[in-house]
Amino acid sequence: MNTIKLNNGQEMPVVGLGTWKAEPEKVGKAVEYALTEAGYRHIDCAAIYKNEAEVGEAFARAFADDVKREDVFVTSKLWNDMHASEDVEKACKQTLSDLQLDYLDLYLMHWGVAVPNDGSPRTDDEGFLRTIPVPIIETWKAMERLVEKGLVKAIGVSNFTAMMLVDILAHERTIPAVNQIELHPYWPQERLIDLCRHKGVALTGYSPLGSSNNRNLPGQPKLREDADVFAIAKAHGKSPAQVLLRWGIQRGTAVIPKSTTPEHIKENINIFDFELSEDEMDQLSNLSVRHRFVDSHEWWRIPYFN
Ligand code: NDP
Repeated sequence: MNTIKLNNGQEMPVVGLGTWKAEPEKVGKAVEYALTEAGYRHIDCAAIYKNEAEVGEAFARAFADDVKREDVFVTSKLWNDMHASEDVEKACKQTLSDLQLDYLDLYLMHWGVAVPNDGSPRTDDEGFLRTIPVPIIETWKAMERLVEKGLVKAIGVSNFTAMMLVDILAHERTIPAVNQIELHPYWPQERLIDLCRHKGVALTGYSPLGSSNNRNLPGQPKLREDADVFAIAKAHGKSPAQVLLRWGIQRGTAVIPKSTTPEHIKENINIFDFELSEDEMDQLSNLSVRHRFVDSHEWWRIPYFN
């Protein structure tokens, strides 16, 4: 399996299985199938996906089978309501317990926004997300302690914009190992990728297939049905999904397609036997459509990426 070397020396497999919106009763089977049948060695999890306990059952089954824990790269993410210094380790330990693991390979700050966990309403009277005054750097320092304690091997960030990265790099000794962000031909984020590379931060692209999140408003295109993607796929005898994922790994990023469908799970990792030409890569990077499938503004009324 091809890997990306992280700035702490760890190797992260370039294809991982995503688990967001992977439903109960399906997610565990998908993870087990990915590990034991389809050859995945990278699983992307998060506490907020509310399915880590079922993923943990699947890990236990796979590790009791032929799969070795040390061969699998497991990522999870700290949710926004556990950013306070005293909460970070608690959150990580809960995830470890749910996943039935002793350590994570990578722990990400899911979003750079801290919210209360005292049971108070999520939004204020005007519908804006209620936040608490916990600076990102405080959370990051608490995450550094998880590495020191051996609970996680690497720490990183997710949904970090350029200026958030610049800020964290200015303050801290640990450079994030990874920034996990939305990446696909409709949202290639080349300038952010350039900055991350320059600073030694590896990239993982989420929603590489255009997501199942329904930000596909009427009249907007579906990435997996894009005519250019389709034509390139046809030329290679591959599926549109395989072309989208190949584009991602040829740019040097990891991809974490979500699927609970065995045929898709297998198809999504079967991308190492063909190559996109430079022209095809350029064509895919320069499609006329620009679209984010994940935009927190709809959930939180915070224009996070502006
Ligand atoms: P993806 O781009 O991976 O798309 C998932 C959708 O594509 C599902 O509906 C899936 O259906 C379908 N699909 C998968 N494979 C194929 C295939 N070969 N052919 C046709 N359809 C296919 O979307 P996600 O938004 O889920 O992103 C992937 C992962 O990235 C998430 O699961 C999560 O782990 C991570 N993520 C992280 C975020 C963050 O804030 N850090 C935000 C969003 C995602 P089916 O299951 O039926 O195959």
